[in-house]
Amino acid sequence: MTEQSTQPAYKIIDHTYDSVVVGAGGSGLRATMGSAEAGLKTACITKVFPTRSHTVAAQGGIAASLGNNTPDHWSWHMYDTVKGSDWLGDQDAIEYLCREAPAAVYELEHAGVPFSRNDDGTIYQRPFGGHMQNMGEGPPVQRTCAAADRTGHAMLHALYQQSLKYDADFFVEYFAIDLIMEDSPEGKVCRGVIAICLEDGSIHRFRSHAVTLATGGYGRCYFSATSAHSCTGDGGGMVLRAGLPLQDMEFVQFHPTGIYGAGVLITEGARGEGGYLTNSEGERFMERYAPSAKDLASRDVVSRCMATEIREGRGVGKEGDHIFLHLDHIDSNVLAQRLPGITETGKIFAGVDLTREPLPVVPTVHYNMGGIPCNYHGEVINPTKDDPDAIVQGLFAVGEAACVSVHGANRLGSNSLIDLVVFGRATGHRLAETVTAGSAHKPLPGGSEEQSLSRLDHFRHASGGSPTAEIRTEMQKTMQKHCAVFRDNQLLAEGQEAMAKVCQRMEDVHVTDRSLIWNTDLIETLELDNLMAQAVCTMESAANRKESRGAHMHEDYSERDDKNWMKHSVITFEGWGGNGGKTEIGYRPVHEYTLSDEATYIEPKARVY
Ligand SMILES: Cc1cc2nc3c(=O)[nH]c(=O)nc-3n(C[C@H](O)[C@H](O)[C@H](O)COP(=O)(O)OP(=O)(O)OC[C@H]3O[C@@H](n4cnc5c(N)ncnc54)[C@H](O)[C@@H]3O)c2cc1C
Repeated sequence: MTEQSTQPAYKIIDHTYDSVVVGAGGSGLRATMGSAEAGLKTACITKVFPTRSHTVAAQGGIAASLGNNTPDHWSWHMYDTVKGSDWLGDQDAIEYLCREAPAAVYELEHAGVPFSRNDDGTIYQRPFGGHMQNMGEGPPVQRTCAAADRTGHAMLHALYQQSLKYDADFFVEYFAIDLIMEDSPEGKVCRGVIAICLEDGSIHRFRSHAVTLATGGYGRCYFSATSAHSCTGDGGGMVLRAGLPLQDMEFVQFHPTGIYGAGVLITEGARGEGGYLTNSEGERFMERYAPSAKDLASRDVVSRCMATEIREGRGVGKEGDHIFLHLDHIDSNVLAQRLPGITETGKIFAGVDLTREPLPVVPTVHYNMGGIPCNYHGEVINPTKDDPDAIVQGLFAVGEAACVSVHGANRLGSNSLIDLVVFGRATGHRLAETVTAGSAHKPLPGGSEEQSLSRLDHFRHASGGSPTAEIRTEMQKTMQKHCAVFRDNQLLAEGQEAMAKVCQRMEDVHVTDRSLIWNTDLIETLELDNLMAQAVCTMESAANRKESRGAHMHEDYSERDDKNWMKHSVITFEGWGGNGGKTEIGYRPVHEYTLSDEATYIEPKARVY
C-alpha cells in the first residue's frame, strides 16, 4: 500500500563529472585516487563518512609475498589463492592480484600505513589460514602484513588522508539510489548515478562517463554477521535493477571465529599467532580434520569442522552450541603487542579475559565471494551468448561488491584487503585509458530519474502492516537457517519458498517517517530492498548448484563436480514490486588460463589441508 505523495516534486540538482565512484572504503578510495590522479574530474559519493566504511574494521592484515619472515614467491600466493577458491577463481585475475600485491603493499607503506615491524625494520608478516610455502606443500608461510590487529583502520585512514591530496570532490552522507542506464546498439551503457543527500533530502543527478561501484558486501542479509550494519549491498541492488546479473552469489563465507552471541569478529590472526580451537572434550579437533594445516586450514574447512563438532554433540556451553578459542597459552606481551584490539573485544563482547580463559566462538557470516561480475580492469561484465566476457560501457566495480573473480568459491584470509588496493588501482588505470578528461557528455536519456524517484516516493509513503525491521529480521533468520554452512535439498527448497514469501512482504512494508531530513527509516527500507534481492539470488543460486565447492557445502551432493559445475553462476532478478522474487540463472566459463607465460595454469585437484 502507498499513500499519495503530498510533497511537491523532488528538487533535483545536476552535476557533471568525468568519473564518479560510489563508496569510500578501501577499494573506493583507491579507485578515487587513481581516477583523480589521471586528471579526471572525479566525485566520490558515500553514505557513511569515509573512515567509517567497513574496511576500518579489518583486523588481521593484507597478503603479499614480500618474503620478510619466511621465504615466499608470488606464484606460491597464486597457488594458494587458486586452491582456496576451490578452482572457481579466474586464474588470469589471480595471477594479476598476486603479482601486483607486493607493489601495492609498498605503496601503502609509503602512503603512511604504520605496519608492525620486524627487528630489522622490514614489515612484519604473520601466518594466515590456507597460505603455504612451496606451491601448497607447506610449511605455512608468513605472508600477511599487519598493523597490529588494526590493519584496516590504519589502511583506511592513510588512504583517506592521501585522497584529500588529490582533487576529488567528496559527497559525504549521500545515498546512491540507482544507476542511470541507456540501451545502445552495443548493449547497456551506464551514464551516471542518482543519489539523495541524507541531510536535506535533495536529489542529486550525477552525469558521468564512468561510474565505479565500490559499495562493499551484503553480509547483513544474514542474522549473525561480522559486517557493519551499513553492509547492505546497495551496488548489487542497483545492478540488479539495471537488469544486469550478479555472479556466484551462493558462495558466502562463514568466519570460524565470531564471538558467540555478539557476532563480533576475532581475527584469524589470533590463530596465526598460535591460538587453537577446542570442543567440549577439550580436544584440539582440527588436528583430526586437517592434520597438516590444523587450525590454519582455510575458513570454509574450519567452519564446517566446528559446525560438525557442534552437530555431533561436542559443542561447548550450556546449549552445546559453540566452540572455544584458546589464546590463554600465549605470552601476554605478545598478545598486548600483536593482538591488542581483540583482547579488548574479548572483554567487551564476551566478558572474557582471554589471557586467562578461552573465548566462546561460532562460525559467523563474514564475506561475500559473489557480487558484480567484472574483469581484472574493474570493467563490469554482462555476458551474452556470443561473448561471456562482454563489458558494460561506463560501469566498473571493485572491492567486496565485485566478483573479479579472484576468491572463487572461498576467499583466503587477508586476500580481501589486497584485492581492494590492487583492483582499485587497476580500475584507476583503466579509467585513465578509456575516459578523456573534460570530453563532452551526450544528453541523458529522457526521464532518467523517474523510475528511481517513483521507487523512492513509493517507499517513503508506504503504509502497509509490516515495519521494515520486522521484514528484515524475518529475511535474516530465513537466510541463517536455510542457507548457512551446511545445505541440502530439503533445507534449500524450504528456504526458497520462505524467501519468496518474505520478499513478497516488501509489498506490505510500513515506513513511519515521511520527511526527507535524515530519514533513516526510509534509507533502511531502500537498503532492505537491496538486501532482499540479493538474499533471494543467494538462496536461488545455492539451490541451483548441485555440487559442493568451497563455501557451498551441499550434503546431497557432497563432492566437487568439475565436469558439470566448474563454471560461474550468473543470476538476474525480476522479483521487484510483488513479483515474488523471480530470478533467472545462467553461466559463465571460469578462466582456465593465466595472464602471462610466467605463470603456469594450476590444474584442479582434491583440496586437502
Ligand atoms: C570485521 C571484519 C574484519 C575483516 N578483516 C579482514 C582482514 O584482516 N583482511 C582482509 O583481507 N579482509 C578482511 N575483511 C574483509 C574486508 O575488510 C572487506 O571485504 C573490505 O574492507 C570491503 O571493502 P570495500 O572497499 O569493498 O567496502 P567497504 O569498506 O564496506 O565500504 C563500502 C563503502 O560504500 C559506501 N556505500 C555503500 N552503499 C552506498 C550507497 N548506496 N550510497 C553511497 N555510498 C554507499 C559506504 O559508505 C562505504 O564507504 C574483514 C571484514 C570484516 C567485516
